[in-house]
Amino acid sequence: MSDCLFCKFVSGELKTEIVYSDDDMIIIKDINPMAKNHFLAIPKQHYKLLSEATADQMLALSRMLKKISSLSGLLGLESGYRLVINQGDDAGQSVFHLHIHILSGQKMGWQPA
Ligand code: 5GP
Ligand code: ZN
Repeated sequence: MSDCLFCKFVSGELKTEIVYSDDDMIIIKDINPMAKNHFLAIPKQHYKLLSEATADQMLALSRMLKKISSLSGLLGLESGYRLVINQGDDAGQSVFHLHIHILSGQKMGWQPA
């Protein structure tokens, strides 16, 4: 996707600090952290929403979840972490290239409705 911010990070067209990279994803620091540690795990393949993911993309996503759990030292996740996918406008999704927020470093409550 030529006009997608996260595709540009994946391709290297736009520079960003890449904390981790493999065949499935890159992991970067969120520019506007909502917790002490806030990373974004970004699939290398572009798709907007979970509901649009192919079977292969869902497999890649499950490999990403497993890999994230093994990167606890690198990402500072030792004392627990939260994974978030914002799906759609009402969830506040602002970048329409699916990504997983990885939040840790403090006790985080749920926001009241
Ligand atoms: P969403 O709101 O779509 O779930 O999450 C998009 C995230 O991307 C936001 O948390 C936002 O702070 C982050 N973000 C937006 N632009 C940039 C950027 O240029 N660099 C980085 N590292 N993060 C970004
Ligand atoms: Zn994209």
